[in-house]
Amino acid sequence: MPLVDVHCHLDAAAYHDVSDVCEYSRQAGVTVTVAAGTGQRSNARILALQAQEPGQVWAALGLHPERLDASWEELEAVIAQVQEHRQRVVAFGEIGLPHYALLDQRMPLEQAQVREAMLHTLVQAAVRLALPVVLHTPHAASGVALNIVQRYGPPGALFHWHKGSPETTAALCQAGYFLSVTPEVCYRARDRQLVQSVPLDNLLLESDGPWAYGGEFAGQRTTSALVARVAEEVAQLKGVPLAVVQEVTTVNAYRLFSQTLPPVADQ
Ligand SMILES: [Zn+2]
Repeated sequence: MPLVDVHCHLDAAAYHDVSDVCEYSRQAGVTVTVAAGTGQRSNARILALQAQEPGQVWAALGLHPERLDASWEELEAVIAQVQEHRQRVVAFGEIGLPHYALLDQRMPLEQAQVREAMLHTLVQAAVRLALPVVLHTPHAASGVALNIVQRYGPPGALFHWHKGSPETTAALCQAGYFLSVTPEVCYRARDRQLVQSVPLDNLLLESDGPWAYGGEFAGQRTTSALVARVAEEVAQLKGVPLAVVQEVTTVNAYRLFSQTLPPVADQ
C-alpha cells in the first residue's frame, strides 16, 4: 500500500526540483504529498505544483499563524483563493495558532489574539466550503484550537506535528480527529510515547519538509520519502506489521481529505 505524506512545504525554496522530489518520493513508496500553503503567494505556488503533479500533490491552502505579516486582507484573499479553486483543494491549511513567535517574543500578545480571531474565521470558512482543516497548534495551542474546531465542526481536522497534552490528545482522538507524527518519532521519546498512546485510526504520517531532522536523519535532505521510515518506526512502536500501518494511515489520509482510494493492484 502506498503512503501519504500529509504535511510538506513543497513550495519552499529548498524544493527547486519538485518533479525530481516527487519521483524520488514515489520510488520510496510515498505516492501522495499534501502540500500546505502559508499564505496567498505560497498558496498560488502550491496550486501550480498541484497542476504540475496531479494525483501526487494534493493542495492545502492556508495562512500560517506564526507569520508576523499576515493581515485580514490576506486572510480574505486566501478564503477567495480556496473558493475559486475549491475543486483542486483538499483542505484549509496550514492554519492555526502561534506558539514559537510568542515564545521568543517576536509576536506581541495582542497580535496572538488577532491570530485566534483569524482562526475562528478560517474554520468557519472551512465549514462553509466543506473542507477539513490542517492545524499548526503546538503544545497548549492544540487545546485552544480543539475547542474552536469543535465549536464549528468542519468535516475533519488534522493536528500536524502534534505536541499537545495527554488530555488534549485523548479528546481529539475521541472526537474523531487526526494527529500526525514526523521523522522525530524515530529518535525522540515524546513522539514515541505519543504514538504508543493513540489509536492507529487517528494517526497520520508527515515529513514537514523541508524541516531538517536530527538522529539518523542528521545531514539528510527532508522529502516525503522519509515517511516510509516513519511508517516502519510506527509499526515497531505499536507492535503491528508494517503493512497494517501502511494501510490504516493511507486509508485515514484518503478519508480525511475526501479522496477516492485507488484500486488495489493484484499481487
Ligand atoms: Zn507546516
